[in-house]
Amino acid sequence: MEKIKQSLTQFMNGRYGTDELSKFMMVITMILVVVSSFAQEPILYAISLILIIAVYFRMFSKNFDKRYRENQVYMRYYSKIIKTKNKQKKTQELKKVYHYYKCPDCKTKMRVPKGKGKVKVSCPSCGKQFVKKS
Ligand SMILES: [Zn+2]
Repeated sequence: MEKIKQSLTQFMNGRYGTDELSKFMMVITMILVVVSSFAQEPILYAISLILIIAVYFRMFSKNFDKRYRENQVYMRYYSKIIKTKNKQKKTQELKKVYHYYKCPDCKTKMRVPKGKGKVKVSCPSCGKQFVKKS
């Protein structure tokens, strides 16, 4: 057992190994394998096969620079998605407390607290006043 471990360490020496992108690809692969076995869709199976080959290729790669850059691209997209998700969540929480209106004149968006009955709203950008139920 020790010998196998040793030779594996030796083999992986100077190779890139796993990173966030690889882990993400592995998760996608697993999902695709499960889905393709249910859906009997050979294309999905083929994609998962290509993905797993790509994961191993990256893991055993000696081109650290290129792999690192690939991971950076992935991380940039990942943080973008997380940011958008957080923003959506925040907007949804605000929607519970505020009504969102558009100015009938200039279409500026504004928000009014909910549950105040009829309120007179004045547009912050053009000054137009209109009555809304809140
Ligand atoms: Zn306006």
